[in-house]
Amino acid sequence: MTDADVIIAGAGPAGLMAASELCLAGVRPLVLERQPGLREIPKASGFNGQIVELLRYRGLLDRVEAAAGRPVRPAPGAPFGDLYLDFSDLADPPIWAVPLPQARLEQLLSERAAELGADIRRGHEVTRVGQDDAAVTAEVRGPDGTSGLTARYLVGCDGAHSKVRDTAGIPFPGTTYPEVNRLAQVTLPDSVTRLDNGDLDVPGLGRLRTGFTRTDRGVFAFGSLGHGGLLVQTTEDELSGLSDDAPMTLAEFQASIRRVLGADLPLGEVTRLSRYGFQARQAERYRDGRILLAGDAAHQFPATGIGINTGLLDAVNLAWKLAAVVSGQAPSGLLNSYHDERHYAGARSMMQTQAQLALRRGTDPAAAALRELFGELLADEQPQRRLGSLIAATSIRYPMPGPGPHHPLAGTFAPNLTLRTGQGTTSVAELTHAARPVFLDLAGREDLLDAARGWQPRLDIHSAETDDRPADALLIRPDACVAWAAGAGEPAGTAAAGLHEALSRWLGAPRHSS
Ligand SMILES: Cc1cc2nc3c(=O)[nH]c(=O)nc-3n(C[C@H](O)[C@H](O)[C@H](O)COP(=O)(O)OP(=O)(O)OC[C@H]3O[C@@H](n4cnc5c(N)ncnc54)[C@H](O)[C@@H]3O)c2cc1C
Repeated sequence: MTDADVIIAGAGPAGLMAASELCLAGVRPLVLERQPGLREIPKASGFNGQIVELLRYRGLLDRVEAAAGRPVRPAPGAPFGDLYLDFSDLADPPIWAVPLPQARLEQLLSERAAELGADIRRGHEVTRVGQDDAAVTAEVRGPDGTSGLTARYLVGCDGAHSKVRDTAGIPFPGTTYPEVNRLAQVTLPDSVTRLDNGDLDVPGLGRLRTGFTRTDRGVFAFGSLGHGGLLVQTTEDELSGLSDDAPMTLAEFQASIRRVLGADLPLGEVTRLSRYGFQARQAERYRDGRILLAGDAAHQFPATGIGINTGLLDAVNLAWKLAAVVSGQAPSGLLNSYHDERHYAGARSMMQTQAQLALRRGTDPAAAALRELFGELLADEQPQRRLGSLIAATSIRYPMPGPGPHHPLAGTFAPNLTLRTGQGTTSVAELTHAARPVFLDLAGREDLLDAARGWQPRLDIHSAETDDRPADALLIRPDACVAWAAGAGEPAGTAAAGLHEALSRWLGAPRHSS
């Protein structure tokens, strides 16, 4: 007998999302968080990408918008290295962004996980993990001293310096870069003039261009947050080994600006100060037996802005698979597909963030030429869309196992189709609120409906019509990934065989098999 089916170490965004998704799938996790209360030190100022759509699919976007104080919108642009991707001419920009500070996101996710029944214990630090064939053990330091807890599985969502990863012996290869970044959220005093195009006119310094300014001593950058606020950042090469956890002071930030720009920048009200370094690391394995990794514990990207998207998508991909294993219904290999899919997605993000770093770091004429060339390419729509979807992770297509060829939608995020049914109009987003697998019949294909019925009640079945039908039928996994699709008019025999194979692969044996 174990203390819990699943222990989650860490109540950051990834751990809390994993907890909610496990609860939706019928498993009540035990979440252990070393901090006694909710986060107070600021970290991310917002998030973006595919997870925004996933939150819509879970019916959570209203709460997120209420907490952010405004509707979710497409981002007008995005930094790329020290260049800027300008989406202002695109009718449908590729990145959706939510300006919700991380502390508020964690509060919202914590409330949701608790509502769904997760047991969240704060002030409990996991100091070591171990496992055997039957269970995983966590050594936990809590208010009453040190104790041991057992579970069938343990998910390390304990951030970049993960104890779970380290004590499980999972290698975390990669590079630590010497740059130190210092970031502040500020207003400007009257002595600094904001010009119409967003540039700054600073007494004693002259004009500062919006975006990145490279000097001999580092990089200075700023961007507007709306409502008169600015995000200001410096980047310098330092060998001082400063800890991400040691709070940054205003004096430290001002001294850094002075070093980089060679002069002072007068600041008004300062509402946030943080310091961080860049690492490019990815865990060699996202699964080691009964121990799994998600979020920053599994990956560290050398550019900000994508950590929350990636970590929450890890959690959503993992939770339903883990729940299926815990309930004894998982087909063989299901849990390994978590590593296959999310390690692949992480590697794509690593590729684009390292490319950004290469664009930022070089100081010789060849690097300047690379930046100039990239700057020209980024003026064109096709590269803007391609890089935008790479940053947002909306272009990820998980490699689908099994006999191909696969439908072009297989492995992608299910499109949010508007659906006309006998009961009225609905959408893919509404059908996925409960995080259950969905078979969506879009062409009245009795052959496929017959095959799908063998997996009820584990599978939700819906018939609907939609405009510009992308397939005759779709099998949508709980993480909103299209597991299989029938091409238009695909013959009954091959289509039903493909559906049978996909259902068996992702949901296990049909109801009546013995
Ligand atoms: C300055 C800065 C700005 C950023 N800006 C952005 C941004 O704008 N957008 C974006 O998407 N990302 C941004 N990021 C990255 C983002 O903050 C991370 O990717 C995100 O926090 C990762 O979430 P996580 O849940 O995986 O880990 P974390 O947020 O690190 O959470 C881990 C949790 O585990 C707890 N914990 C740690 N060890 C233990 C243990 N042994 N036992 C129990 N609990 C433990 C911690 O207290 C913490 O609560 C930024 C990061 C920094 C540093």
